[in-house]
Amino acid sequence: MPIYYACKYAPVELMAGFGVSALPVTTEEQNAAALEDLIHPAICGFAKNVLGACRSKEIRALVLTTCCDAMNRVGDVLQQEGSLDFLYVLDLPHVQTDAAYKRYEKELMRFAKALSAYTQSEFSLAHALAASENTREKAKSTDYGAVLKGAHAMPSLLELAKKTLQCDVQNATCSGDRVLELPDESLYHNPSRACEAQKEDDLARFVSWYAKALLTQPACMRMAEPRKPHAADTKKPVLYHTLRFCEYWPFEYRELTKSDTASLLKIETEATSNSSKQLVVRLKAFQESLEASSGTHPGKEHSMHTRYAIGIDIGSTASKGVLIDRKTNEICARAIRATGAKAKDASHALLQELEAALPKGEDAVICATGYGRDTLQDTAKIVTEITCHAKGARALLPDVRCVIDIGGQDSKAIALDECGNIESFVMNDKCAAGTGRFLDTTSRVLELDRESFIKAGLSSKHPATISSMCTVFAESEIVTLIAQNTPISDIVSGLSVSVAQKTASLVSRVHGHAPFLFTGGVSKNMSVVEALEKKLDAKVATSPDSQFCGALGAALLA
Ligand code: ADP
Repeated sequence: MPIYYACKYAPVELMAGFGVSALPVTTEEQNAAALEDLIHPAICGFAKNVLGACRSKEIRALVLTTCCDAMNRVGDVLQQEGSLDFLYVLDLPHVQTDAAYKRYEKELMRFAKALSAYTQSEFSLAHALAASENTREKAKSTDYGAVLKGAHAMPSLLELAKKTLQCDVQNATCSGDRVLELPDESLYHNPSRACEAQKEDDLARFVSWYAKALLTQPACMRMAEPRKPHAADTKKPVLYHTLRFCEYWPFEYRELTKSDTASLLKIETEATSNSSKQLVVRLKAFQESLEASSGTHPGKEHSMHTRYAIGIDIGSTASKGVLIDRKTNEICARAIRATGAKAKDASHALLQELEAALPKGEDAVICATGYGRDTLQDTAKIVTEITCHAKGARALLPDVRCVIDIGGQDSKAIALDECGNIESFVMNDKCAAGTGRFLDTTSRVLELDRESFIKAGLSSKHPATISSMCTVFAESEIVTLIAQNTPISDIVSGLSVSVAQKTASLVSRVHGHAPFLFTGGVSKNMSVVEALEKKLDAKVATSPDSQFCGALGAALLA
């Protein structure tokens, strides 16, 4: 029967010495909300996974460490319930000092006693040393291209990272790969004693080396010392994973941002494998920025001879496409249509329309982006909308430093450096708040067509306060405002302010600053542009081709 563990400082090799196979917890709790009464709603998804696996009887024996408050709480609940065959909570030091090694040594000796009683077995130094060597070998054998740090990552996240970054990714999270130094030479020479005494002596000698070997692994985010990133970690791209409600990552993350880490991307999950669309886009955009900085954009070389390029942006609401002359980067043709229920139909129709605009006998390379980009994966190069928007925005406004894109069902802010490289980006694709859909729905409630809606917004001097960001609640707020005889223009202007507010918070999350370029269909709504300029206290540029920005970027990257 295996014993499970949830922390990389758990004594896996000591357990091997008692013939126990130790396994990391990788289960995903399917009904996390049901556990909240027992533990607390504001507890990280990993802690819920551990608790759920124990309560469903999938785990019968568990070793926890006092690594964080979430795990302490899991330990408390399990101890109270008393349903596990074996539960041990190890008191884990949070510094790498001689005193801490001594303390952990004593703790491991206590643990060994409990383990021996539970397993009814004696310690084998040979088995513990073999397991330690094995751990060391495993850590040495792979040439990692990137590092995943921060909070516990589900195996599915690690797989997604490997697949997207197209390299091996080292799991250096708090529950990740364990890295041990070589066992002390002296441990291999047995002093000859009476059998019983020797077993005890073996255990004490092993633990005296092992406590320090465990604690001097590359520090996890919970270690108070050392906080500085390992030099090797800063040479490779780092994905920094955080879990909602985890309180420890900001300390380590701050150190990483201060270090000269090659490239850093922060991602957050709930410790489940339901990777959001946003997570996939974030990882893909990160990989594209790594490729761009190393000058290895795939497909570029063999396509350079083709004079024309088509960029297609299949948005959730509208599909846009442009044909460009690659000699001049001028747009020769544009096409737009509603995406509708079948993104594939829209993308193929757009492509046909733009190919028909090609001069006779000419060919074009094609690149697709947007939420429906994969519908063209057989014919086009595929690039995320983040990379395409950044590229297109630089073409529309060369000194742009922050792109604000508001489309039909999502919005994003992308901060660029002076060379146009993506510094940071954030997307809102969880709800319609602050998007074109929010404005379209509310204009229907007000029975105004698009033009009248924008005109009304621009004519108001006293925007009404719309406090609900949610489309459904905003609708009922509008009905109340109408009943109170609030002028329609003030209501519309209030809606623009509400969209501007939501967008400004995205901008501040990426530390975006002027020059701003507003892209996406909503940039045609001058009432929103005005409100945004007021909120950001800066000029917000738009372009007649703002809605084609993603498509233009795709064409430039084809
Ligand atoms: P996506 O790429 O997400 O499908 P777009 O960037 O193409 O979205 O923007 C579509 C949205 O832009 C529509 O939902 C609509 O709200 C808004 N929009 C489109 N045209 C106009 C216009 N002329 N004036 C104001 N808003 C517009």
